Amino acid sequence: MLTARRRFAPAAVLTALLTSVAGPALAAPHNVILFVADGLRYGSVTPQTAPEMAAVKAGGVDFVNSHAMYPTLTTVNASALATGHGIGDTGDFANSAFAGQPPLPSVNPGLVAAYEDDVVQGDMNARFAPSYLDEETVLAAARGAGLQTAAIGKIGPTAIQDVTARDGVSTIVVDDATGHPEFGGLPLAPEIAKALKDTGLGTQAPDRGLNQDPGSYNRSGVIRANVEQQDWFTDVATKVVLPRFAKNGKPFVMVFWSRDPDGTQHAQGDSLNELVPGINGETSLAAVKNADNDLARIRQALKAQGLDQTTDVVVVADHGFSTISRQSATSAAGKMLFPLDVKAGFLPSGFLAIDLSKALGLKLNDSYGLDVDLKGGFHPRDGGALLGDPAKPDVIIAANGGSDLMWLPQADAKTLAPKIVEALIAEDYISAVFVDDRLGSIPGTLPTSAIGLKGAAITPEPAIVVSFKSFSTGCADPLMCAAENADTPLQQGQGIHGSLSRADTRNFMAAVGPDFKAGFRDTAPVSNADIGATLARLLGLSIAPKGKLIARVAEEALAGGPEAPTATRREVSSAPAAGGFVTVLRQQELDGHAYYDSAGAPGRVVTGEP
Ligand SMILES: [Zn+2]
Repeated sequence: MLTARRRFAPAAVLTALLTSVAGPALAAPHNVILFVADGLRYGSVTPQTAPEMAAVKAGGVDFVNSHAMYPTLTTVNASALATGHGIGDTGDFANSAFAGQPPLPSVNPGLVAAYEDDVVQGDMNARFAPSYLDEETVLAAARGAGLQTAAIGKIGPTAIQDVTARDGVSTIVVDDATGHPEFGGLPLAPEIAKALKDTGLGTQAPDRGLNQDPGSYNRSGVIRANVEQQDWFTDVATKVVLPRFAKNGKPFVMVFWSRDPDGTQHAQGDSLNELVPGINGETSLAAVKNADNDLARIRQALKAQGLDQTTDVVVVADHGFSTISRQSATSAAGKMLFPLDVKAGFLPSGFLAIDLSKALGLKLNDSYGLDVDLKGGFHPRDGGALLGDPAKPDVIIAANGGSDLMWLPQADAKTLAPKIVEALIAEDYISAVFVDDRLGSIPGTLPTSAIGLKGAAITPEPAIVVSFKSFSTGCADPLMCAAENADTPLQQGQGIHGSLSRADTRNFMAAVGPDFKAGFRDTAPVSNADIGATLARLLGLSIAPKGKLIARVAEEALAGGPEAPTATRREVSSAPAAGGFVTVLRQQELDGHAYYDSAGAPGRVVTGEP
């Protein structure tokens, strides 16, 4: 429900809003736009590279101690932004995860589901009804309170913002699959479809065109940002949705999820097989600018609609980014030949699955349960795999770039887990290992509860989570030139994220508007879950939580709020394994909340510290 908490809104604005809100509320909230620049590193924003974002940061709040949630993946952070809860509560443990048995209808017979998909999300909601997140989202609560709501942009994280609103009517949801029933696109309300037609935009999202093809081991990837597709999303936001919201007069919340720079950084062709320039080439810079242009157009539209004084604009990235390294001196998979699609001497996707399969003597199957013919030059294409009998796998592996997650569904998980850990920590590409508390304390590892993955989640919890090795390729700010081993079909020199390095946890974050301090440098740690909780506060929403991993409201960033509080920094080290391997977790603590900076064995992780 709306509550009276508007503190410093000009009287004229309050009066104008009051007249348009039904019910007994004494004050209406300001409008909120959450603009997510997917995969935007904090250091990528300068007045030259991204003038609009730099202006938001300079004019409003600069969150200099920002944190993505771990694993540093898109849907994981989308769930935190959407709910204001930690990942142990939302249960969105990774972009690709084991969704339980039997296989979801949309991925059958595969056991690993990719959540960046509207159909998969629908299947997940059906299995874990009413929603696999099992927490009410900010957008859903805002809608319940009578606000106007919309989510526009990249498929996956966009629909997660109001994960149960799949009818087109309750919340406006527009993503890559809009107008494409063949991709399971969610419907548009008839009046929105008509408005799109009347504006000449059409009702079908364009594809990524020349931004789509990541190339291969001997062919460079894209050299063009995701301009056309995002221009369409921005047109939808600025020419249809915002004018409609302005006309109706009620307060609104709009989430805009820009695929750039993430999609372009992943697929860019500036650095084939080379670590430098990696994700710092011209194409990645163009992607940062593309996202910045979209933000500028949205802020111009706010001004044109007379909404700029009454709208808070929060700009965040879901996670940071790194350049891919495909090299390892220890991996058995790295010594095999995959002439079809892997440069000789480089790691194939699925390297962890191949190495574990050999170490444990368990049969290797891909995530669909199909045999993988290693001698024939094949490897698990998406990295995911089932070890053992595919009908009753001992280990289910989901590859997620800078981290891999494992589930041990059989009864002997407690005896299998130490063997897996022993095999993993012998590899030079492993940086940190986390094991489900229920499997006991294993030397060299920390429990998954130590990184916020134990909560009220109703989806299958991972048994083992590993973060891969990261290192600086040599520059003044290591967070801007980190490389990491990654389980992905992409090439060395392209972009990735997902690890618990500071390069991947350090995301861009800034906010400007009537509810935020102006020209304020927030030195307190702030996470994406905190942003979700802070938005709920701004909107005056009270959301009944199910889990206890409730994020902190960044009071210090709000107009009239206190000074930035000081966090305590702490290092948590595992017991050493027989060979000396330790997982060291660096975190900050504030008011009972933990913020994970980085984790890894000494020398195997970019910490951001000198
Ligand atoms: Zn992302």
